[in-house]
Order: sequence, then C-alpha cells, then structure tokens
Amino acid sequence: MKLIDTHAHLQFKAYDADRDEVAKRNSKELEAVINVGASLDTSKGAVTLAGRFDNFYAAVGIHPHHVDQWNNKTFSDLETLAKKKGVVAIGEIGLDAHQYNDYPSPDLSAQVKILHQQIEIAQKLNLPVIFHCRDAYDELYQYIKQRQGKISGVVHCFMGTWEQAEKFLDTGFYISFTGNLTYKNNGALREIAKSVLEDRILTETDAPYLPPEPYRGTRNEPVYVKMVASALAEIKNWSLQKTIDITAQNAKDLFKIL
Ligand SMILES: [Zn+2]
Ligand SMILES: [Zn+2]
Repeated sequence: MKLIDTHAHLQFKAYDADRDEVAKRNSKELEAVINVGASLDTSKGAVTLAGRFDNFYAAVGIHPHHVDQWNNKTFSDLETLAKKKGVVAIGEIGLDAHQYNDYPSPDLSAQVKILHQQIEIAQKLNLPVIFHCRDAYDELYQYIKQRQGKISGVVHCFMGTWEQAEKFLDTGFYISFTGNLTYKNNGALREIAKSVLEDRILTETDAPYLPPEPYRGTRNEPVYVKMVASALAEIKNWSLQKTIDITAQNAKDLFKIL
C-alpha cells in the first residue's frame, strides 16, 4: 500500500499555474488524495479534481472562516454537491475561535449554526466529517456530545491538548497529523501522537499550507505526507511501511475508499 493524504487543497489558487502537473505527479505517487473544500467554490473545485484524476477524492463543506457565505441556497447547493461521484466526506467544517489578522472577530454562535446544518447533511447522506478546529476544541466536543445520532470523522491538523484529543478519540473520532508534527518546537504534539492508538491515526498535508520541516517556507504538496509518516514512524517506533499501511488502511476505513 502507498500513503494517503487525507487533507489537501490542490484546487486552491496556489496551484493555478501548474495544477495539472502537480495533480498528475501526486496521483501517481500516492494511494489516494482527498481534496477538501472550504467554501462552495473550492468544494466544487475538489469535486472537479476528483473527476479528473485517478485516486483523487473530494470533501465538500463551508469552513468556519466562511460563515458569512451561508444561506438557504448554500445549504441546498452543498447537499447537491455532496451527492456527486468521488465525494467521501463533509468538510472542512467546525469551529475556529482564533483571531487571524485578515478576518473579523470569530462569531462562534454563527459557526455553530452552520456546523449544525452541515452535520445534518453528513448524517442524512451517511458521510463522515472532517473537522477543522482551532482554539475551540472544548466547544466542539460539547457540541458533538449534545448532538443526536451518529457522527463519524476526523479532527484534522490536531493542535489541542492530550485531554482534548482523548475526548474525541473516546467518541470514536480519528486524529490527523500534518507537517507540523515535524517542527522542532512541536514536542508536545509528538507526545500526543505517541498516545493515539494505531487504529485512530491519520496523515495529511493540508497543502498548500504547513509544509514539513525540510520544505518550510515553500508550497506544500500531498507527496510530502511522506515526511509526516516518517515523523510518525519515529515517534511510534514503527517501520515506515508499517506506518504507511496503518494510516492508509485507517483512511480507507473511515472514508470508505476501496
Ligand atoms: Zn483546517
Ligand atoms: Zn485545510
């Protein structure tokens, strides 16, 4: 088995100049790549890529940053999109209480509202979710606990504490690690990775963001998931092939990729 990048954004602007070339290379090198939407437009872009390249799949969803895009039409458009071929998850959706430079102050109650409606789509279509969460793990967990019905999925690019990770794991969620697992000052994150059981761990790049250590400052791409796997292999004391097999099988199980 080869590696799976469970979270990339090859439909984003960063690849406008050479998207096909990057997509072809990555499709050949990896077992699968899931391109994840953040808005209606980038969700459509992810579905288009899934239709054009072997081993490419899509997740569709509205990121908490784009809460202002949400209206009844977005809701029905997203549901239509979620039924397209190659869609394996609803995401990235979630809660983000972090104050970013170019964004207005986060409005968590508005974020919860669109999260709620998107989880409804996931439950209706029996799809897992890809959670984006920053500075709001406790709030997200509270939300899941109160929610009726089954929700399965992954907390992507995990950056919380072990106590928070444990709660999501106990609820049946997977935890996914990006290139930031390789950063020198992320010892605490490596400790968390050490404790996550092998049947709950996933690898991703979040490309074009968060390139692993040797590529910091450059554009990330799905094949660099290899560096995330190497870091994990070292942390877990597994061989690289064992790490690849475990994480790829987990991704196949969660996203029902054959
Ligand atoms: Zn994210
Ligand atoms: Zn992302």
